[in-house]
Amino acid sequence: MVKKFHKLRIVLSIALTVCLALSLFGCYYYEEVPNSDNESSNTSQTQDSSQNGQSTDGTSDGSSSKGTTNSSAVVGTTRPGNSSTPSGAKNLSLVEKGKANCTIVIAANASAKVKAAAEDLQTYIGKITGATPAIGFDNKDRSSGNYILVGPSKYTQKIGIKTPKGYPGTEKIILKRKDNYLALLGNDDGAYTGTQFAVTAFLEELGCGWFGPDELWQVVPKLNSISVGSLDKTVTPKFNSRINNVYNNYKDFAMRWYLGGNQLMTGHGLPALVPKTTFNTHPEWFSLINGKRTNTTTWWQYCYSNEEFAKEIGRKVIEYFDKNPHAVSYPITANDGWETDWCECSECSKYPTDGDLMLTFANRVAKVVAKKYPNRTLHILSYHSTYHIPQLNTEAEPNVEIMFCREASMTSPIKNGYYKPGRNSITHNTYVRSWKDNFRGYISKTGVKNISVWEWYCLAVEYEVWKDIPWVQGKVAIENQNYWKSQGADYVFYDQGPLPVYRESGVSFPLRWPLWYVAAKGMWDSSLTGDQILSQACDKLFGNAGPAMLKYYQALATASAECKGDSICWVPPAPGEMYTSAQIKKIDATVSAAEKIKPKISSDQRKRLENQVNYWKSAKVYF
Ligand SMILES: [Zn+2]
Repeated sequence: MVKKFHKLRIVLSIALTVCLALSLFGCYYYEEVPNSDNESSNTSQTQDSSQNGQSTDGTSDGSSSKGTTNSSAVVGTTRPGNSSTPSGAKNLSLVEKGKANCTIVIAANASAKVKAAAEDLQTYIGKITGATPAIGFDNKDRSSGNYILVGPSKYTQKIGIKTPKGYPGTEKIILKRKDNYLALLGNDDGAYTGTQFAVTAFLEELGCGWFGPDELWQVVPKLNSISVGSLDKTVTPKFNSRINNVYNNYKDFAMRWYLGGNQLMTGHGLPALVPKTTFNTHPEWFSLINGKRTNTTTWWQYCYSNEEFAKEIGRKVIEYFDKNPHAVSYPITANDGWETDWCECSECSKYPTDGDLMLTFANRVAKVVAKKYPNRTLHILSYHSTYHIPQLNTEAEPNVEIMFCREASMTSPIKNGYYKPGRNSITHNTYVRSWKDNFRGYISKTGVKNISVWEWYCLAVEYEVWKDIPWVQGKVAIENQNYWKSQGADYVFYDQGPLPVYRESGVSFPLRWPLWYVAAKGMWDSSLTGDQILSQACDKLFGNAGPAMLKYYQALATASAECKGDSICWVPPAPGEMYTSAQIKKIDATVSAAEKIKPKISSDQRKRLENQVNYWKSAKVYF
């Protein structure tokens, strides 16, 4: 009956330990282990550092220096709101004319996460300046001299920094300069990688940027000198969980996009707990269809009203949490499918909708799990036959989470409330209100406290040509995030490439970074608009052509936001519906303007620009 089918992929692949491969390879430069604890020798450290100064691997393209001859960076002084250091205080010099002027200091008993972050910082300062500051420990006197304190240590305590702690809890990073210290640290408890994020944030301040795994899409500036003025910055993420398929498949790279946070699984998690084979011993846990219990239909379901089944799921979820101490949520969502193959038993039939049945089931499981894990959530979906606002006045248990799948146009901004009334052949749902109103109504009717969103970015699944065509959401992506956040959403799961089943892979990064990166960065930094994220990226990637390329991406994003084409869930409009002749004309104008700047940018910047423009030009055959 249904030929094409995508729907929610089972996403059970989230590793629960953070890979720290950054620390496993390469050669790092540590101070010699001191003979005694009190023999400080900053001068010799500086000398040692300069001896090691050739360790840069020459991958940088100097693009962030924008062709100027003054290749020094002063981090912090020009940023507003950072007045913790009295004005006029001397900048803290870290590298001066290609010579390291500082030591990276970590705790003598530093964790593997902190060591990896310190080594990453050392490597990148080397790439940027050619000078490699040594890594030393806090059991030496570090009173005089210039220091970058990575992770918590005696000296971060000394300058009054409280280390963010707890998992799950407050994920936070701190970049703070005080006197002769620059501190870079964050919450590293549980699955968090705050110190690494703090190092990445500092490197971004220096001009670094990561837009894809390939070297061409990683920007490392060439600088002679680095110093820090006033800097007192803390970041707590917009969303406490930031997971997508870049995170699942490119773990190390994903750290540059601040992906991670609270660990959880999404998708359809019941068969992992009660597999189909359980039918042999408990047929009553499976759907009754035409008078017979069955587990063989295409979109098989369980008998969700069966209380013993709910208890069994509760016990199994507890076992799962026992084994996965970092997991904060588990998906007890109904199996994938539509309205067919649901149980017809007298008890299940009492519920007016599948959504009502699932909420009762979730509450039962939640009560079992709460006895041991009251703060971990069990989530069900607002999706397909469980999409609509429940009809019964059932209140959600405190540890039940509703994940709202975005059954709306992929392109129209959520706040516009656009929807097409009537039955939809993809979702089999009949829409009587906008997605936004359904979302708000569902929350208000059930009083659910834990809210998340499933967003589809896998646009080539149903419509293959899109695998070669640009799609940029730009500011709309971040406005949608902010709307969800304003309604209480804890996180958004982006169902997107790079995943072969979505016809996107590692080679899709150059085409898809404006979509994937903007969403990832927006999930982390709530202070940025979509335009700001794109603008900063464009300046790094394209140098003098950055503002012109920003206009190009904005024109693409406008075509998306204004698109009137048919679209729902993971099914995009036809390319020609988004890129109409009027939109093409506007986009072409931005491309011509950007191309005129090609002679004024570096060869790497030019390669990137040509790459982006070629995607646009070759996509035109589909319009
Ligand atoms: Zn039933």
